[in-house]
Amino acid sequence: MQPEQGRISPFFRHNVCVGLSEQNPRTPKLGMFSWFGLKLPLKERLQLIRDAGFEATTLWWGVERSDNAETLGEAPAIVRDLGLYLENIHVPYDGCADIWSDSATTRAHIAGRYLRWIEDCHTHAIPVLVTHISRTPSAPGPTAAGLALISDLLENARQAGVVIAIENTRRADYLQAIFTELDSAALGFCFDTSHNWLWTKEARLLRDFGSRLACVHLSDTVGALDRHWLPGEGAVDWKAVAADFPRPYHGCLTLEVAPKDRRHTDAAAFVRRAYQQAIWVRDSVACPVSAL
Ligand SMILES: [Zn+2]
Repeated sequence: MQPEQGRISPFFRHNVCVGLSEQNPRTPKLGMFSWFGLKLPLKERLQLIRDAGFEATTLWWGVERSDNAETLGEAPAIVRDLGLYLENIHVPYDGCADIWSDSATTRAHIAGRYLRWIEDCHTHAIPVLVTHISRTPSAPGPTAAGLALISDLLENARQAGVVIAIENTRRADYLQAIFTELDSAALGFCFDTSHNWLWTKEARLLRDFGSRLACVHLSDTVGALDRHWLPGEGAVDWKAVAADFPRPYHGCLTLEVAPKDRRHTDAAAFVRRAYQQAIWVRDSVACPVSAL
């Protein structure tokens, strides 16, 4: 695979697509988010992920949901010392809709946070920064000032060799505005299968923005809550995901999952089961044999 003409992709380092598996070079690396709902030290979680067979992981870049606050800056080295590929960090989403605020002061504040996160990615050679840009369904909608702010951030990210991957949450209109009005080598899409099934399944986001796909959050759910079940355990329409999945795809196939019963789950057994479901997604959704 080669990068698209005219676009420099951070997934290609030394002409090698780093999102591809070393074990199976025609398919993406299988990954698992280092947060998976069980309270264990970061290193132990990462060891379980590696020992189950995963090649990649991602990090939560904040203190709210992690026990690694004091070691955030050391976390990338912990990942790599264990032999795992660090594809992205997920930045906190408190106040994420401030991008669309009418207040220039509020927008400047959130821009400052992003600039620090971009610098963190550059410092630690992390190719992708995953972010949310809206939280509640009642947000006012995309604004020109917000798009201008994102455009500035993308230029900063491009110069730092970082992709900002915007994740689908409750509203498709923000994504539609960003992906149709902005163009940058640093603009990516993070597709979350459960978010899509819960809130935007009519929008066909993968079909429309799949050429920008930088990373994925794979999980299953049912009802009205984002449950983070393993793929195949819920009601997500995986055939629909497969139909729109872009090929080629240059990122990892990363699970963002947690056990159904967080108090009575053997962590190692859960991560091994997760690995089997990641293989299932790879072989039946992202890279069915017919598409290789
Ligand atoms: Zn997210």
